[in-house]
Amino acid sequence: MLWGKLVGTDKIQILVVDDDEDDIYLICDTISECPGNSYSVRTSNKPPEAAEILRQGGVDVVLCDYVMGSVTGIDFITAARAEGIDVPIILLTGMAAGSADQAALEAGASDFISKTNMTSEVIDRAIRYSIANTERHRLFQTVLNNVNAAVALIDRDQQPTLWNPEFGELAKNHANDSGCEADIEAFAGEMLAAKRTISIGGRVLDKNVSNTPDNGVVIILHDVTEHVEALREREKAENRAAHLAMNCSLTSLPNRNAFSERINSEIADAKSQGREFYLLNLDLNKFKEVNDIYGHNKGDLLLIEVAQRLSDCCQGDDYIARLGGDEFMAIQTKPPGSTDLPSLAKRIGLSVDTSIQVDDILVRTGVSIGVAVFPHHGETAEELMSKADIAMYRAKADPINRIYAYDEEMDRNVRETMKIGQELRKAVENGCIDVYFQPQADFERGETIGFEALARWNHPELGPIPPSTFIPIAEENGLITELGELALTRACEIAAGWDNSLSVAVNISPVQIRHVDLPALVHSVLLKTGLPPSRLELEVTESVLIDDESRALHALRGIKNLGVSIALDDFGTGYSSLSTLISFPFDKIKVDRSFVEQLGHNHQADVIIRAIIGMAHQLGFKIIAEGVENREQIEFLLRERCHEMQGFFIGRPVPADNISEYLASSKTSGIRQQSIVRNENDEINKRRAV
Ligand code: C2E
Ligand code: MG
Ligand code: MG
Repeated sequence: MLWGKLVGTDKIQILVVDDDEDDIYLICDTISECPGNSYSVRTSNKPPEAAEILRQGGVDVVLCDYVMGSVTGIDFITAARAEGIDVPIILLTGMAAGSADQAALEAGASDFISKTNMTSEVIDRAIRYSIANTERHRLFQTVLNNVNAAVALIDRDQQPTLWNPEFGELAKNHANDSGCEADIEAFAGEMLAAKRTISIGGRVLDKNVSNTPDNGVVIILHDVTEHVEALREREKAENRAAHLAMNCSLTSLPNRNAFSERINSEIADAKSQGREFYLLNLDLNKFKEVNDIYGHNKGDLLLIEVAQRLSDCCQGDDYIARLGGDEFMAIQTKPPGSTDLPSLAKRIGLSVDTSIQVDDILVRTGVSIGVAVFPHHGETAEELMSKADIAMYRAKADPINRIYAYDEEMDRNVRETMKIGQELRKAVENGCIDVYFQPQADFERGETIGFEALARWNHPELGPIPPSTFIPIAEENGLITELGELALTRACEIAAGWDNSLSVAVNISPVQIRHVDLPALVHSVLLKTGLPPSRLELEVTESVLIDDESRALHALRGIKNLGVSIALDDFGTGYSSLSTLISFPFDKIKVDRSFVEQLGHNHQADVIIRAIIGMAHQLGFKIIAEGVENREQIEFLLRERCHEMQGFFIGRPVPADNISEYLASSKTSGIRQQSIVRNENDEINKRRAV
């Protein structure tokens, strides 16, 4: 550091460059008279040689003649500065100070001394002044080079006088961007004119300009790329959060928040324009089962696919949102005067009510749609949604029509059903569901062989509520699993107490097969109650196999493996698919009551029962007819060789306490049946004899 030499003991190295030996002598002499003897001097009378000495380093200051043959002192300075040598150079001249002075300073001279008034004081002052100045300049340059910005000093004539490497680098990048030569002056001019935020070479720069005392300016360009990127990221995150706040993350459909904004604005618009619109409440059928059976992952995939189909059904202003789970809402403008169901509902029905491939499984869910119309069914979002909900529940209960528009009667029914559902829950929880037993008899032996267990609910205010009312409600609200377990346990407990080998038949809902590990449940109930498996029969309907054949078959096999028998209930009413009969080795087929009651009145019923019984014989199933109420029916069934019967003719469902009484009195009916059998045989023998 030259500051040290200025104040310390190390001598300051001076290089004197002059083509005139006399002048060199004179200059050295004057220097030697400088106070403090703090200078050591080297000399050269040839500018190229002097330049070489400078290059080698060690020189602290140069005293250079202005005119050296063909080379001027300004040439010397210009060449040194071009090489990046920033050693202070003081020009000495015999000429009077004036324009040359200015030219020398502009070329980079540190000072200018006239040889005519060159004294040791003048030289000493000029040297110290130049060194101090250069040192200050170097410090400034160091700061400039290390500042974390591109900086340039522009003079009042708009010429860049000083800039740091960062600024030079930017000028190069800018030239690259625009495909022209790097030019500091042009670049500085552009930067002065540019807006506050500038983009160069993929970087974002923030420009600051401040004035200098001599009417120039300092341009400072800060690299704010990272900051801008962070801001962009933040903006993206904010947008994402805003999207999530209004959209469902799984399906990307608008969510409940978005829907509630939309329906309120739709109501406001429709009110002001005097128009109507439909509100659709959509609920996937069997979604819970897909989730329960195949897992939530598959359930999610199903929702994504359904959401896509729902979106694809939308046309024009149609709007669809997912409120949660498998619940969706849609809005469609109603054409003036139209009495039709919304076209969107029909499109959705067609699109969703088909098989849907979810990963490796094929599911058929379908959708139930309830429709409410603004303003007829409500003028607030809440009212409309509740009406559409009621209509949707009505649609859910109908296996064929899946789209229902709201009406008032529906409202009454749904409210009643909901009330009954709540009270049924209490009854099940408190064990207030009773089980009655209806006898089943064998034709051939003419005696009672067992009982069908039938659930009974005696409502404290409404009186007995038939199972045909409360079982579907229990199936709809999920109560059936508890109710079914209660009925099964109670039936097995009671049957285990009978001191004979009578069997008990218990009805099992398809919902139980889907949601409960039935073989495990039956096994534990048998263990708990001590009923031998051979005395238990479960009655299932065909719908079990239609809904999900593989799961149902698996459960039925598991139950059969326990030694429990399985009867196919209500045969003839559902699909009555023959494939059902061969898909599982049922122990028994129950011919539905609706056929039995038409025997003798409807020729077709006669033919169907005859065919069912014949087929059961061929396939090796036992066959039982239910709903047998009179002698004619018995005679027909006997003739057709039906194995067993159940019905009011031999006994109505009775409480468990009445069974022994029934059994005692039923001996008569047993005899009666035997006599029927005997009479029938006599009849046949008579005919043969004739
Ligand atoms: P189901 O299993 O077909 O039961 C036979 C139904 O026919 C019973 O009606 C019974 O009382 C009635 N019935 C029997 N013989 C005659 C007759 O000669 N004439 C007439 N008119 N009816 C007769 P209930 O008890 O009202 O049960 C109706 C349905 O409710 C049952 O049909 C069954 O599907 C269901 N159910 C009853 N209890 C349970 C249960 O514990 N669990 C399940 N999942 N379903 C049950
Ligand atoms: Mg039954
Ligand atoms: Mg039945």
